[in-house]
Amino acid sequence: MELARDKQTGQEVYAIDLRQQVLEQKDPIASQKMLAQLTAKEYICLGCESFMTPVAIKPDMKVSPHFRIKKKEQHQENCHISRYDNLVQVGLTQQVSKSSGFPVKYPSKLRLFTERNVTSEESWQDSRKSTGTSPKTITASVNSNPASVSDELRHSTTTMLGQIVKHFLSFPHDRHLSLHLPFVKTTNYQDGFKKIDFDSGNSYEKLLIYYGEFMYIGVEITSQEIYLPLMQGLNIFDKLTGKPVFLKVDISHWTTSQKDYITQQIEKCRAEARASRSYDYNSRKQPWLFFFGKQSPQNKFQFQLIRDDWRLLYCQTIQVSNLSNL
Ligand SMILES: [Zn+2]
Repeated sequence: MELARDKQTGQEVYAIDLRQQVLEQKDPIASQKMLAQLTAKEYICLGCESFMTPVAIKPDMKVSPHFRIKKKEQHQENCHISRYDNLVQVGLTQQVSKSSGFPVKYPSKLRLFTERNVTSEESWQDSRKSTGTSPKTITASVNSNPASVSDELRHSTTTMLGQIVKHFLSFPHDRHLSLHLPFVKTTNYQDGFKKIDFDSGNSYEKLLIYYGEFMYIGVEITSQEIYLPLMQGLNIFDKLTGKPVFLKVDISHWTTSQKDYITQQIEKCRAEARASRSYDYNSRKQPWLFFFGKQSPQNKFQFQLIRDDWRLLYCQTIQVSNLSNL
């Protein structure tokens, strides 16, 4: 997972920010020192108190930085993150939610990132003060009887669009579940997402989570911007520029590790799609792009994010046999 909690401060930490801290050191010795310092800290799961370890925070790693559970550790029984992961195994084939809602916490709200989003120190400290103990007790008492969990407690907020996209793809039979997007009237998973399909003549002026297959051959990434062309049929391109439909993101202000994170995601999709070329069409994988934004008012071929934030776009390959879920 991309985030874990610093046990000492209670703050939620992005793994990619740890890599950035290592990157920003002046010389190799300082980098080593920072790496050792960050690795020595105690991180715990956001759903329980299991210890997590940061992986690939060294700048030269090919894998994206993330947290994984420490060896010999297990998520605690009532950890909503591990219970969620178990549901993913069945979500593709059947509806998981009951009349009372989704059985565990799911990402129901996208929040635009501000510095305050990651600093949940206050609520962490408050819960310690009021109970005289760590939030583990609160979580455990709430989840010990899942049937009694109120719908309210099953909702969680995220700044990472990827988490919402993964939920959309993993639970195609549960898209009636509510989903709140910033500046969008209350909606659900079904209506919060929209496929870009120029043939249909749809409009894309409303702010939503849009998605489409991207042309991995035409992707351009510079230090200033990312240009991602979308598959929209051979005849659909801007006659003035000769360009197809595309998403353009200004990345000039991103940190190096934020740029690496998205670049690696795109590269991974490209590699998976290439490797899956086989005679069996249904087993092939296609690279799909998801983002929170809309069509540019000046150019209908161009899409843009609501804000050029690395958290608001996400790429994933999808097997052709699963395309009916889109
Ligand atoms: Zn856990």
